[in-house]
Amino acid sequence: MTLDEILQQRIDERHRQNLYREIKTLDRAPGPRARVDGRELLVFSSNDYLGLASRAEVIAAQQAGAECGAGATASHLVNGHLDIHHHLQQCIAEVTGRDAALVFSSGYMANIGTICALLGRADNIVSDKLNHASLIDGARLSGANSLRFVHNDLAALERQLQRAASRGGNTLVAVDGVYSMDGDLAPLAEIATLCKQYSAWLMVDEAHGFGVMGSRAHPLAGSCALAGLSQEQAPVVMGTLGKAVGNAGAFIAGSQPLIDFLTQFARPYIYTTGMTPAVAAGALAAIELIRDEPQLQGRLQDNIACFRRGAAQLGLPLEASISAIQPLVLGCEKTVLAVAGELQERGLLVGAIRPPTVPQGTARLRITLSAAHRAEDINELLSALQEILQGAGVLEK
Ligand SMILES: *Cc1c(COP(=O)(O)O)cnc(C)c1O
Repeated sequence: MTLDEILQQRIDERHRQNLYREIKTLDRAPGPRARVDGRELLVFSSNDYLGLASRAEVIAAQQAGAECGAGATASHLVNGHLDIHHHLQQCIAEVTGRDAALVFSSGYMANIGTICALLGRADNIVSDKLNHASLIDGARLSGANSLRFVHNDLAALERQLQRAASRGGNTLVAVDGVYSMDGDLAPLAEIATLCKQYSAWLMVDEAHGFGVMGSRAHPLAGSCALAGLSQEQAPVVMGTLGKAVGNAGAFIAGSQPLIDFLTQFARPYIYTTGMTPAVAAGALAAIELIRDEPQLQGRLQDNIACFRRGAAQLGLPLEASISAIQPLVLGCEKTVLAVAGELQERGLLVGAIRPPTVPQGTARLRITLSAAHRAEDINELLSALQEILQGAGVLEK
């Protein structure tokens, strides 16, 4: 068989399993409306939780940022590190309450680069089973002894910490602060206590926490701040600039030695072109907006509450999530596809999430809310869900 024939077989297999993913083409980033494959839709699938991808001030800052170069022209360590990167890193360190920060070109690279720099074959990595793919790939690539525990199960985590301790080497516990497909939070205070007890290092992925939640002192910092964790308790914090910040790129925040070390040893930081200057300028403007306009986070919280209230009244299968991610787990891939298709016919776009992104038998609609949604938008989604799920027999009439 030729290469194409072999590949086509595997693609056909995906189709038969209802797992084939279709690419949609939008005319612009949803704000939250966009023209999707030629049709105007209201979007509930974006990670732009604060509507900053469409904010005029951010776009203007990004355009101005392009004045210092369309590209960084080299890696950060050669000549690709500009003033704007320095300012962005300082601002991130400030809002996360950490000593320093280092920007990466994406969250995927930040996670892989950090785990591989911190751990080698003699070490251990303990991961939640629902961790994001980039943490899983980092664990694999590092060659460290990989131990996984049942999602958010502290007793299972402790058993893995005991196994790691008896093997020797350093141990990193890596978790999502907010789980990307479930929206629930890791029990970070308890996890940090276990890490201290077993002398393990805690790494928290704040992809969905940064900008959305925090503490009184650090309202943007994410789930670590919400759980009251200090730099000592959560020494490695990763955040993305592609979600609530509405842009692209990512960061690691932590102590000065951690940042110095990653600058020297994180290969995806070293062997890639520096972050595009315009992106750094746009991301910096967006973070400053979140910091200076607390009503943005307030509006998102109101929308989350509005959706949950309405969904509970309708008896929709809500998950325990206080984040912007509100999944409805339907189980069967076919049902999820059919419901998402009907929603789209009514002008509503939600994510149809299927294995291997989520475990077998837990296909779901991944609904995400934004500060840019209006109450009418949420009500429109809720009444469409009610009718469609009743029609599909998921919801009683
Ligand atoms: C999106 C995401 C990432 C990857 O971030 P990018 O900047 O998009 O590469 C990492 N971790 C989690 C939990 C995510 O949801």
